Formats: sequence, structure tokens, C-alpha cells
Amino acid sequence: MLVLNSGSSSVKYQLLDMADGRRLAGGLAERIGESGGGGRIVHTSGDGGRRERTLPFPDHAAALGAVGEELRADGLGLDSPGLAAVGHRVVHGGTRFTEPTLVTDEVLEEVRALTPLAPLHNPANVTGIETARALRPDLPQVAVFDTAFHATLPEAAARYAVDRAVADRFSVRRYGFHGTSHQYVSRAAAGLLGREPSEVNVIVLHLGNGASASAVAGGVCVETSMGMTPLEGLVMGTRSGDLDPAVVFHLSRVGGLTMDEVDDLLNRRSGLVGLCGDNDMREIVRRREEGDREAAVAFDVYVHRLRKYIGAYTAVLGRVDALVFTAGVGENSAPVRAAATAGLEGLGITVDPELNAGRGGGARLVSPPGARVPVAVVPTDEEFEIARQAFALVGRSPR
Ligand code: ADP
Repeated sequence: MLVLNSGSSSVKYQLLDMADGRRLAGGLAERIGESGGGGRIVHTSGDGGRRERTLPFPDHAAALGAVGEELRADGLGLDSPGLAAVGHRVVHGGTRFTEPTLVTDEVLEEVRALTPLAPLHNPANVTGIETARALRPDLPQVAVFDTAFHATLPEAAARYAVDRAVADRFSVRRYGFHGTSHQYVSRAAAGLLGREPSEVNVIVLHLGNGASASAVAGGVCVETSMGMTPLEGLVMGTRSGDLDPAVVFHLSRVGGLTMDEVDDLLNRRSGLVGLCGDNDMREIVRRREEGDREAAVAFDVYVHRLRKYIGAYTAVLGRVDALVFTAGVGENSAPVRAAATAGLEGLGITVDPELNAGRGGGARLVSPPGARVPVAVVPTDEEFEIARQAFALVGRSPR
């Protein structure tokens, strides 16, 4: 299975062997469409060997062509008869796409029609699909949606309390994102506990550059922190997360900012970067330890928001069987995990300082043995989840 995550100027790819889940190759083609011909592809082979090339990428077709060349150099070309299908990450499925979907012309049209809800992402995802289809028209292409896992949100969680007619007319509701990650991680957490996903209630904290929380009851997502767009919820690398919407009116009326300027401010110049100039948690923790006040406040605002969501989702679920940290910050930052869970013994949540500070490759518990709410670190694997779902759809169930 080839998995493609196509952005407006980059394509991330991974080739997976579904017989054993092995990663055969992967990489990133970036700077697509940049003038000056400065495209770059970084490719990692299954044996860990890394190659890097710069060459012009006038469009996605050129970038995917280079991906094909790199794969061919590993003996795994796009023309390989073993390639079963291509799984594509698609950001927004609206209310229309709640399952992995075999791509047809009609499906592409419908994904394109959702562009107003994801103006940067969906057009790039469509371009990636079209390019892959042109290269291998005989192969099934499967779209796997970031929003799909959240389609089960009850109306009480999905609806904003705004005028019904206006909301419905403009598709204003909460969709949620990072769905493949929340799905993969909540299942893997059940596995770590030796239980079926249907038996456990899990809070997942996906803390990457983008960040979101979800409450998953018996394998079904019942609440998530991102909303109509990925802007809502947790404090992120460059996004503000939750905000009084009147801040937007104020910035417009009093600050004189245009809508595009407010959009840019809240999506790209806020969050950790807005608070302290850095969005890398390693750097923020280092600066904080050196007594940097801005970094300390950024850390505290980030953690305070996380703690609010842990409390809220405990109330939503009623019974919590695991609290799970994932993605770049969640998997790697012991200080964030420690601060986010400090003093939550009343909720049954504690971490063991030694286990929390330890580094381990796979999924692991960081709470003391016998803790009422196990706290886990589970590395996310969105590409594997996309491959698994797409592969299941094309009729050859993996493993
Ligand atoms: P993306 O949302 O881009 O997929 P990732 O899940 O890869 O993001 O997370 C990227 C973020 O993870 C970085 O911005 C950085 O803040 C954080 N991160 C990565 N490694 C560490 C680490 N060792 N300690 C703390 N934070 C880390």
C-alpha cells in the first residue's frame, strides 16, 4: 500500500507491506510549485538508508514522478505488481464522508465541493489524488478522511449553539480532525491494556504541532476539541485554540485588521509561537528552565488548557480507563505529561516520575502499577491507519 499525504506544496509518502505492517520506504517531496526550481525530496529506504535530491517540482506530478524514481531505485516502483492500492489522507469529509471511500470522478467532485470548509487542504488533497490516478489509472485509490472518526459525535457535542437555520445553511458545526490518529491510538491503548476497544473509555491527547483531544467511549468518538476547523480547542504550535469569538470582532472593529489578517494571526502567529516566539516544545522547556518568563507563561497556558480538557472529558466519559498521550509533544515531552497530570489524583490520574522520564520506542504505561486511570504513551501512526483502512476497503484484509 502506498500512502500519500498531499499538501499544497509537499507530498509525504510511505510504502507499507500489509502482510506484516513493515515500512518499506517513505519520505517527503517538498517545495512544490516554488519558483526558482528549488524542489527537494528526502527519501528513506526500508533499511534506514537516506537519500536527498534537489530538483525542480513545478507541480505535484513532477514531485510524484520523483517519488516513483526513488521507490524504483529501491526496487519498489509505482509500476510494481505488488502495489494493491493508494491510500490518500483527505482533511475534510464534511458530513458526506464518514468512511474510507473508493475514489471516483463523483467522489473527487464532492471532495472539491467541500473546499470552503478546508480551503488550503482539500484542493491539495484532490491534486494529489488526481496525480496518483493519472500515474496508475488501474489502481484503486482510497480517500481516508481526517474528520471521519468524529462522525459519531452526538448532536449535543457537534452542534454550536447558534441559530439553527444559519448554521445548517453554511455547514457550521463541529467536525473534528486528526481522526485517523485518534482512532489508531485509542485502539492501540486498548491493546496495551489487554482489552477490546469496545470495552474501554479513553481520553486521547494528540499533541503535535497541531493538537487535539478526543473522548472515545467503547471505540466510538463522542467528543473532540477541534471544531468546524482545526482552530478550536487546545493551544497549538501556531494556533490559538479556544478563544472568545468576540476577539475577532474587536480586532476587526478596533484593531482595523482584515478577516485575512485575523485568520493569519490566529492560525499562524498565535499558540506557542505567539506567546513566546518558539513552537518547539523542547526549546520552550529549555528556556523555561533557564528562567525565561515568556517561555514559562507559554508552557503554563498550554498545560492549563490541557488540564481543562482532561477534566471536561472525564465528565463527558463518566468512567475513564486510560489517558493517552501521543504525537511529537505527547510522545516525547515528559515535562508536559507531568505538568498536565499533576494534582489530578482526585480523578485517579497520576504518573510515575521514573516511568514518565523513561524513553521507550513503543506504547507504554507511565502511571504507577495499579493506578485507577492508566496513563499511557502511544506513538501514533497515521500512515499505517490510512493503509489499514484503505486496504480493508479494497478487499484484502491485512494481518
Ligand atoms: P505534526 O503536527 O507536524 O505532525 P509532530 O507530531 O511531529 O507534528 O510534532 C511536532 C512537535 O513535537 C514539534 O513542534 C515539537 O514541539 C515536538 N517535539 C518533537 N520532539 C520533541 C521532544 N523530544 N521533546 C519535546 N517536544 C518534542
